[in-house]
Amino acid sequence: MPTVRTPPVVAALDIGGTKTAAAIVTRDGAVIDRLTAATPGRAGATAILDTAAGLVDRLRTRATEAHVGALGVGSAGVIDPRTGRVLSATDALAGWAGTDLRGRLREQLGVPVSVINDVHAHALGEARHGVAAGYDTTLFIAVGTGIGASFVVDGDVLTGAHSTAGHAGHQPSPYAGQLPCTCGGQGHLEAIASGPALTGEYVRRTGQRVDDLRSVAARAADGDAAARDVILLGGTAVGSAVGGLVNMLDPGAVVIGGGVAGLGDLWWQALRAAVRRETLPSLDDVPVLASTLGSDAPLLGAATLAWKGIS
Ligand SMILES: [Zn+2]
Repeated sequence: MPTVRTPPVVAALDIGGTKTAAAIVTRDGAVIDRLTAATPGRAGATAILDTAAGLVDRLRTRATEAHVGALGVGSAGVIDPRTGRVLSATDALAGWAGTDLRGRLREQLGVPVSVINDVHAHALGEARHGVAAGYDTTLFIAVGTGIGASFVVDGDVLTGAHSTAGHAGHQPSPYAGQLPCTCGGQGHLEAIASGPALTGEYVRRTGQRVDDLRSVAARAADGDAAARDVILLGGTAVGSAVGGLVNMLDPGAVVIGGGVAGLGDLWWQALRAAVRRETLPSLDDVPVLASTLGSDAPLLGAATLAWKGIS
């Protein structure tokens, strides 16, 4: 009689606007092999899918000892985890909206596929294998080019009735004034506290040209008062919003990730102080932690999803 074999590994994909990463992951969350490629974002959905499937195929060929039983995918864009389709996406991924991500990858690779938005995947990774492991509920905030969030409850992410939960950047912020937001609205958190927004604020205040947020951070480190103020403003704006979300959700832990969270102590001190100003007394001890898994987090979250799909 043939023996039924439990798949010992799964594949994970993190499809971003500029980079696609793939990994082979064990049930314990160990990455045993990985590959990355540039996302052909301008070339359309078929090219993006071919690149992603190609990475998984190459990893599968190399994993001669292990059987890849399923694939988990974290992708940029609003993803409906029930249908596996991309509902909407930014211009960085041309033609991505409407793509049957789950169906087409399943067809190309012949394994069960689970899909979710990449911020939710990042949160799942931290909640299952990272700094939030051990907490039943985690509020994750990613602060980078945009600002997104995810709420994880007992290993499941809250994606909402329209798969759009987590758009924490698009809530009103008292620090954003009437600044235009990427969503078409104005006065939203993302309009003042994302990486590009902080760079823009520095330019507005000083009239000096800077390339990016790293340049602003370097000036702050050199004692530039305007640069320091802008970084403090960013931390305060995010912290204020996080404090409100903590009051709403009462998470076991808050985890902050994304490129802007790499700004260092100045940003973090402002953030933590603002969280504490907003939170109710019974929530003063909710830990606010830095994401520790880095770029592995969405892969490990996607792998967690893949395991759930086959167990
Ligand atoms: Zn907005």
